[in-house]
Amino acid sequence: RIVSGNTEDLTEDLIEKTLRPQMMAQYIGQDKVKNELKVYIQAAKARSEALDHVLLYGPPGLGKTTLAMVIANELDVRIHSTSGPAIERPGDLMVLLNELEAGDVLFIDEIHRLPRIVEEVLYSAMEDYYVDIIIGQGPTAHPVHFTLPPFTLVGATTKAGSLSAPLRDRFGIVSRMEYYSLEDLRQIVHRSSDVLSTKIDESGAVEIALRSRGTPRVANRLLRRVRDFAQVYRDGLITKEIADKALSILSVDNKGLDDLDRQILTTMIRFYNGGPVGLSTIAANIGEEMETIEDMYEPYLLQLGFLQRTPRGRVATPMAYDHLGIKYDTEK
Ligand code: ADP
Repeated sequence: RIVSGNTEDLTEDLIEKTLRPQMMAQYIGQDKVKNELKVYIQAAKARSEALDHVLLYGPPGLGKTTLAMVIANELDVRIHSTSGPAIERPGDLMVLLNELEAGDVLFIDEIHRLPRIVEEVLYSAMEDYYVDIIIGQGPTAHPVHFTLPPFTLVGATTKAGSLSAPLRDRFGIVSRMEYYSLEDLRQIVHRSSDVLSTKIDESGAVEIALRSRGTPRVANRLLRRVRDFAQVYRDGLITKEIADKALSILSVDNKGLDDLDRQILTTMIRFYNGGPVGLSTIAANIGEEMETIEDMYEPYLLQLGFLQRTPRGRVATPMAYDHLGIKYDTEK
């Protein structure tokens, strides 16, 4: 799988880490977000204060985790990373808060998945740097007040809409990550090739960028797969020809769609006359989790204009028919 990938794969994980830019200057694209953050970071440093809390939202693979690390590096502070589902109880959060030093960054990925009781503890921590919790149970239970050093919470989410209003309101800086332009992706492919010591020509970089669905994580994955083909079928140099060949074997088409994207669209068209059809029905038909479709696949199909969300369900657009080479019935 190119899009959803295998998150259990340790090599994949390791390579992803080595490809991460460390500082703003190496972080390609997202100019609006970057330019704003640079000002806030510089101002916070000049005042020797903790940076305001930052919420980064947008589809997976666009560089939210990477940016959180870059923010910590630029601030020259430590980063403590965790994720919403990993913090089950207020006590788990306390352990993390306890490790913070003044100015540190606490990064919570998938922050929309924090349990409500944990979220409530976070409110006072974010607003006034303290936590009141109950220690013990039954007759021995008693409240304890902890004061925290000033810190910066960086939250990342693919679903800003699922964040509760009180939590969202406590972020002073809210940044929306956009899909990357072709030019940004081309640069990312070149940079990653350098890091991986892989030779690539201009046409090869453009071809990979074109099929990366606006997403650096996908660009890096495609690059690594194509690199193997270049090694076996050529002298290792990645050209357009090799990229083309590898990506068609991997079933990644010229818009970056993979088998599952096409399955989603063809199911809607063939079985439901293009929709409207509910997400759960689509998921059941293709044997995939609803969440995977909603988080990993749908945002890009919406961005391409192949899919629309209506109150009655998802609809495949004439552009989707056209891309799949299926005739659109204008009478419908
Ligand atoms: P997210 O947290 O949004 O899912 P990540 O931060 O994990 O995304 O990014 C996925 C991969 O894409 C990282 O390994 C990183 O190398 C690469 N990447 C992301 N954003 C950029 C960028 N702006 N410039 C270069 N590489 C990037």
